[in-house]
Amino acid sequence: MKKAFSLSVIVAAVLGILVYAQEKKDPVMPISKEIPKAMSKEEVSKISDEEWKKRLTPEQYAILRKSGTERSNGKVYKEFKQQGGGTYFCVGCNTELFSSKEKFDAQCGWPAFYDPSKSKNVKSVIETDGSGRIEVRCATCDGHLGHVFKGEGFNTPTDQRYCINGTVLKFVPAEAVEAAKKAMAAEAAKKTSEEKRKKGE
Ligand SMILES: [Zn+2]
Repeated sequence: MKKAFSLSVIVAAVLGILVYAQEKKDPVMPISKEIPKAMSKEEVSKISDEEWKKRLTPEQYAILRKSGTERSNGKVYKEFKQQGGGTYFCVGCNTELFSSKEKFDAQCGWPAFYDPSKSKNVKSVIETDGSGRIEVRCATCDGHLGHVFKGEGFNTPTDQRYCINGTVLKFVPAEAVEAAKKAMAAEAAKKTSEEKRKKGE
């Protein structure tokens, strides 16, 4: 009996370490070293509900496609607070949504931004539940991102708080964005010089 007990303690400890290691390794918010290729509205319109289920994790699906909300002050919020500069993309369609330039600490338990990085990529819809809340959706895939609150008195340029579910964001660190931009510029310069060479300039 004692042996069985100590064995189960060991098994539980090992499992605990494994779960901890896995959690440490896999961030809730996906991180990409490359700028992800954004889908078009047309491409997105062809994705069926079944296909969304396959492409997204159950939590991403519940938030993005079923207007769910992640737990406040969860692991993803801790990750968000620790992240340095970078850009945030939609996990569903890779549309650029937010940037660390507009990130601020609202201490509300969810990632907060005072503005989208490209306003045309984010749309606001008044909730039909009578709460008067304004829902925020990705303009490309119509995925639910969170809500926007105005006039709360935050000391930011817009006094808006985009309260966003970090689970449906994909983070690209600033270094990766810079490297990708440089690579694109180098590629463009190479093309131009090749064209010049062909023309005999
Ligand atoms: Zn999207």
